[in-house]
Amino acid sequence: MNNSKIWLSSPHMGGTEQNFVNEAFDTNWVAPLGPNVNGFEKDIETYIGQESSVAALSSGTAAIHLALILLGVTHGDEVLCQSMTFSASANPIVYQGAKPIFIDSEKDTWNLCPLHLEDAIKDRIAKGKTPKAIICVHLYGMPYKVDEIKAISEKYNIPVIEDSAEALGSSYNGQKCGTFGDIGILSFNGNKIITTSGGGALVAKNREVRDKAIFLATQARDNAVHYQHSQIGYNYRMSNISAGIGRGQMEVLEKHVNLRQDMNTFYQELFSDIDGVTVFKEPSTHFISNHWLSCITVDEQKAGFSRETLRLALEKENIESRPLWKPMHLQPVFKDAPYYGKNVSETLFNIGLCLPSGSNLNDDDRERISSAIKKVVS
Ligand SMILES: *Cc1c(COP(=O)(O)O)cnc(C)c1O
Repeated sequence: MNNSKIWLSSPHMGGTEQNFVNEAFDTNWVAPLGPNVNGFEKDIETYIGQESSVAALSSGTAAIHLALILLGVTHGDEVLCQSMTFSASANPIVYQGAKPIFIDSEKDTWNLCPLHLEDAIKDRIAKGKTPKAIICVHLYGMPYKVDEIKAISEKYNIPVIEDSAEALGSSYNGQKCGTFGDIGILSFNGNKIITTSGGGALVAKNREVRDKAIFLATQARDNAVHYQHSQIGYNYRMSNISAGIGRGQMEVLEKHVNLRQDMNTFYQELFSDIDGVTVFKEPSTHFISNHWLSCITVDEQKAGFSRETLRLALEKENIESRPLWKPMHLQPVFKDAPYYGKNVSETLFNIGLCLPSGSNLNDDDRERISSAIKKVVS
């Protein structure tokens, strides 16, 4: 029997990626600029719409870092950040010498809780400092409560950095994720919905901000024949080789989103008659998740088994699964950061599990996953 590893989310090439890469070689555009970079940016702009301006960068983390710089976040500033996320959402706050303030999630979308967010803002202002930015995340591809967060952002005049690293292809009220924040960011790491082997993008509302991002991402060179710098720059631009992979991936993005959504339907059906297991899904028709990862929560009392029992049983069958993101306020590295909220994200971390969700999983894989899970259940 085939026992090869089933991954949570692995790269899934569409077939034309290599043509773009070969073309880069043939024309010697083996550099952090070139036709593939321009083409990839255009492809993303067309896909997400809203007249967005996109800068292709070396990673999603780099995009968040540049977003903070563009919003003027500097030493000693405070930045509000969703606690339940990958560390890359929060690390760039520290790169800037600023202080992360973590906020709990709400139960519908597992993302930034508007109530705790507003509490935090009021309290930080009362303590003497208005936070400089809000970083919110569409976790696992699920859009956060866009309208509620936007209203708070506008009320207190604090800009939003929309971490859409996991949510390319998701939408809220028909509008694509990545276009809601004052600045949006995307990731094309190896495990994301599409990959450039490693890469990211910054989504700006206009050309000026996008050009400023590219200026900073290419060592902040002033307009002079010699090398002149009036500002600290970064080496954060995407290479023309990576962008070639991205152009090929954009051709299959919509298809791969559909396949991930089909994986979610597979889990909805698989767990439909299993007591105590809930498959994470959209709270209403306003939200459409790309279901980058399909996740479940396990109520041990009702199910008769724990999240960990299920994880270990899958591991035994060479099937990868993983607890949900450990909240940042529980991470040793952020133990001194202020936290606003209760225990929603902590509970999710304790009872939640991400299941194999790749667009490249086939019927055999699904059969193996299904029988491994059924063994635990019975
Ligand atoms: C992957 C990810 C990032 C970082 O993207 P990289 O391209 O890996 O640097 C940021 N935020 C979230 C929520 C992510 O999942």
